Amino acid sequence: MRSRAKAGWVRPGAVGTLAATDADFILEVSPAGLLLAASDTVGRVLGWDLQQCVDQGIGSVLGDDAQRAALRQLLNQTIATGGARTTLQVSGATAVLWVDVSAKHLVDEPGAPVLIVARDVSHDLTAASQLAASEQQWRLAFEHSPIGGALLDADGGILVVNAALCRTLGWTEHELTRMDVTDVVVSQGGLPWHEWWNGLLEGDAESTTADRMLRTSDGRQAWGRLTAATVTSAASPARVIMQMEDITGRREAELELANRALHDGLTGVPNRFLTRQWLASALEDDPGCRVGVLYCDVDRFKVVNDSLGHAAGDSLLIQVAERLRGPLRPEDLLGRMGGDEFVMVMEGIRTQAELEEIASRLVAALDQPFDVGGHKHAVTLSLGGTIGAHPDTADDVLMRADLALLRAKRMGRARYVAFDPEQDRLATRADLQLEDDLRMSLSSDELRAYYQPIVTLSDLAVAGHEALVRWQHPQRGLLPPAHFLELAESSGLIRPLGWWMLSQACQDAANGREGLVDQGWVAVNASPSQLARPGVVADVTRALVASGLRPERLHLEITETALITASATLAKELAELSELGVRIALDDFGTGYSSLSLLRQFPVDLVKIDRSFIEPVLRDRSAYAIVKAVLSMCRDMGLPTVAEGIETVEQRDLLRELGCTHGQGFLFGRPVPLSVRVPVPTPPRPRRSASHDRQVRSA
Ligand code: C2E
Ligand code: MG
Ligand code: MG
Repeated sequence: MRSRAKAGWVRPGAVGTLAATDADFILEVSPAGLLLAASDTVGRVLGWDLQQCVDQGIGSVLGDDAQRAALRQLLNQTIATGGARTTLQVSGATAVLWVDVSAKHLVDEPGAPVLIVARDVSHDLTAASQLAASEQQWRLAFEHSPIGGALLDADGGILVVNAALCRTLGWTEHELTRMDVTDVVVSQGGLPWHEWWNGLLEGDAESTTADRMLRTSDGRQAWGRLTAATVTSAASPARVIMQMEDITGRREAELELANRALHDGLTGVPNRFLTRQWLASALEDDPGCRVGVLYCDVDRFKVVNDSLGHAAGDSLLIQVAERLRGPLRPEDLLGRMGGDEFVMVMEGIRTQAELEEIASRLVAALDQPFDVGGHKHAVTLSLGGTIGAHPDTADDVLMRADLALLRAKRMGRARYVAFDPEQDRLATRADLQLEDDLRMSLSSDELRAYYQPIVTLSDLAVAGHEALVRWQHPQRGLLPPAHFLELAESSGLIRPLGWWMLSQACQDAANGREGLVDQGWVAVNASPSQLARPGVVADVTRALVASGLRPERLHLEITETALITASATLAKELAELSELGVRIALDDFGTGYSSLSLLRQFPVDLVKIDRSFIEPVLRDRSAYAIVKAVLSMCRDMGLPTVAEGIETVEQRDLLRELGCTHGQGFLFGRPVPLSVRVPVPTPPRPRRSASHDRQVRSA
């Protein structure tokens, strides 16, 4: 046989016409494994040396002993039983292939040749093994995911759960897989459950995420963010894969924030915002209703605070709030407007006499001395009152009561005064004087830009500065913003003031002056009323062009309140500023009518957490929880954070640990004018503004 082969019997390609595709190989071999004939694919596709196969057997071209042993076994079995079928590995021209082989002993005689028909199935096997590998990866990811997950049938029956879900809910895998999803998800609020579920099964993309309360094994209230998708395949019935992320902590922080945003942290009574809202709705809801409002102030409270300390002052305020509550009806509201000022809002009060009667009961409630830090302390109250009715606004009524209070204090305190349109007009004169002065200050260079550093907490390097306005009043000395910003807002002077600050800060930063490092940012505060007017983009662009400052170096600090009341125009302008490259920082985060959703609605680049959370963060559990939740969410969203008012190393270290990226506060530096950093004025520069020159000279 061998000589026949050598004589040319082997015609590689002789059976080639049988080979349907390049994946098929047909060979005729002797029982010893020598090649007798082959389809052309054996040489062309496998790349085997056919002559070598003829001379030395096909074992000689196989890659390794395992392949040779497998071939040997195939031939032996074929000869013994007449035929065999198996899957083998063989070496091809470029890779090892998996082939599906069927072999037949052509004639049932020893020495008769064997016909082998093989098909390349590498691709099918690879696909199958890849599928298996990918299935395993998914299974591992599902099982080890930190987020709870479940596979459900189309009726909501729980089929498979992961460990995280068991942890969140407190049920075991065994218990859960005997439950329906409706046994653990409480249907309450939002879209009815069956609508949500049907929408999901019908592939309605909008219904795939929902926040729901979850029922846990110990009856604890947990919140889950459910994200679900339907998996359909021709081979099996529809399944739903559902993730249940435990958002209890975040949700509680949000509720706590909302509650804090409406209540005074010290006394627990409604704050200025809620008081004003309450009054506004009392005036609006019933046009026939009359609302009595008392505005009161604890006389000489500052003395207690300054002589006995803040803790004593706080304790006094808490006790005063409790006593003031006493004479009021349950439906009346007692609110704290800030400092030592409280307001009472009482619906259905019709006459001045009634209001005066309540005022005298409030005064009487404070008759007994207070225990403040071990001392007995007598406290008196000044009160102003008025009755509001439709169409008065809440602000009108509060202003009238406040003007009456002012007169009560001027008349020697410890008394009640009713608002009188004639007399109280006089009281505003002092304010008008200050307003005049402020108007003058704008043209006579009495405003100062102070700068406070903001550091990166990881290395304490200065990352930027916040520009803070001061007023060098000719008689009263250097005034902080608290003394004049409100007036500037109500008089409309905030716009020229804001513009002055914006252009000054851009100029200082662009000039790389003194402490304002070349690369750092400069943050300018923009008040809600500045932003309420269209043209913010134009102002900012003007300041940037005039100074040559790169837009990325300018941060606009905007408070939550400004964003909540943002008009469509402002939203558009903020988007334009953001496109321009200017960074938007959300200032005093946590103090407004806080909602984390603002961060998604507006192009916010940085979040500044208000000092009122940072100051108690080491001792107050709820402040700590809020700061932690806000920081973790900002980190998830990739937003840098600045903790405001860091005063101690302990606060700094804790905040850094919690993932806060930046810090600002007296620990790193107080707000100072530029000239304090470098006592010697720098030589004149061609681009510095005239007002700046004057400022440096006068400093
Ligand atoms: P803000 O924007 O939250 O500025 C931070 C305030 O916290 C500054 O008060 C700063 O001096 C103070 N501060 C910083 N670190 C600490 C600390 O460690 N401890 C304490 N106790 N306080 C710290 P400032 O300068 O009195 O400004 C008060 C507010 O006035 C500012 O709050 C801002 O809302 C507003 N403001 C200041 N300058 C401007 C301005 O040019 N335009 C507008 N529209 N508002 C301004
Ligand atoms: Mg600020
Ligand atoms: Mg702030």
